[in-house]
Amino acid sequence: MAKYQAPKGTFDILPRSISPIAWQSSSIWSNVEEVLKRLCHHYGIEELRLPVFENTELFQKGTGESSDVVQKEMYTFTDKGKRSQTLRPEGTPGSLRALIESGAFNSFSMQKIFYLGPMFRYERPQMGRYRQFNQFGVEILGPRSPWLDAECICLGSDILKALGLSKFKLLINTLASQECRQGYKKLLQEYFGDHLSVLSEDSQRRLTTNPLRILDSKDAGDQSLIAQAPKLRDHLDSSSSEFFEGVLEYLKELNISYSIDDKLVRGFDYYCDTVFEWQVESIGAQSAIGGGGRYGKLLSDMGGPTLEGVGFAMGMERLIQATLACNQQLEQTPRIEALFVAIGKECAKKLFTLAHEARSCGLCIETWPLHDPKKLKNALSYGDKIGAKSVIILGENELSNNQATYRHMQGGEEKKVSLQELSSFLKSQSEKN
Ligand code: AMP
Repeated sequence: MAKYQAPKGTFDILPRSISPIAWQSSSIWSNVEEVLKRLCHHYGIEELRLPVFENTELFQKGTGESSDVVQKEMYTFTDKGKRSQTLRPEGTPGSLRALIESGAFNSFSMQKIFYLGPMFRYERPQMGRYRQFNQFGVEILGPRSPWLDAECICLGSDILKALGLSKFKLLINTLASQECRQGYKKLLQEYFGDHLSVLSEDSQRRLTTNPLRILDSKDAGDQSLIAQAPKLRDHLDSSSSEFFEGVLEYLKELNISYSIDDKLVRGFDYYCDTVFEWQVESIGAQSAIGGGGRYGKLLSDMGGPTLEGVGFAMGMERLIQATLACNQQLEQTPRIEALFVAIGKECAKKLFTLAHEARSCGLCIETWPLHDPKKLKNALSYGDKIGAKSVIILGENELSNNQATYRHMQGGEEKKVSLQELSSFLKSQSEKN
């Protein structure tokens, strides 16, 4: 036995030639990372690299005091300057901190980033669950639009398909607005309070800290109680219900199948409205390969602007294990052909589908749903910043004529293109260069 060994719950990623276990070989990690980066590029999402540790308070306030991660799983230490620091257990709080700190929102009220790297949680290690593990995550900050939730889900699903994981399950639920959820938590407290003696120890603790998390309990005794518990979906206010329906409508536009799971609550305190999770059976007990949701107030609570966010994270180990289980070959591509800008809800829905169609033709497309036509200039300069070759604009006038405005970024010339021919037109433009 070697004199020194990797700490419990950690592992090495080794050159293929010396890796005895296929999923721990660095070449497969590079290949999968390439696929993730290429798809993010297709969606106009750029990389953010973050410190591996942050001030502890960021996670206490960001991830949330009532989450298991903050209560039980953080690697926290006091540094030599007597500051409390924590190895990052997840990527969202650090990402928002970095975006706010860098002044990103001073120029654009839309930010889309991805990150890739190690996270740390003191959990009980087993296959698919580690103390140092790697996450690929995406965060989209911008207007409160169901398009963006659907876009996240769509990207995640595209990733799984690109890796050959066609047999995944997408679970989705809504946690509604904060006010609505507060009322529902009271209902749960009353309901579970009446059955206190039957509840597991963990769930008894959650009854006061966060009763929603009881719905997530795997304890056999809790399960039968949970099955009879009140459902949040029966108590939604109209705006939460409309938003959730909006997300589902977008998913239907692309025929993305999903199952609504009333018990899906996810682990962090900041989630509201949409939550989702992808599951893959081929990797055994730890079948959750990734998940995420909308966070309404996290950005503003952290001192940023009053924009909302939506994001997800996937576990790299589980993603790679599942990819290998499907025996997939992997390869690569790159550049933003067009920024798709829709003005208003109807146009957004149409352009959402067209963006996916164009991406399916192999084009790199970035999108921006715009509520206010006066902000079009801002969207154009955003297109410039991300190096888009063109901008496609769909407003109500264009939609009624079944056309979109195509604007070439370098020359500035504009022309109308029929919506039916948009993908083939952009494809022919891309082949010219
Ligand atoms: P979360 O950040 O808890 O929402 O988890 C997102 C994804 O990260 C999960 O679906 C897993 O794929 C992965 N993940 C979370 N915790 C671990 C862990 N301890 N070990 C390996 N993967 C993990």
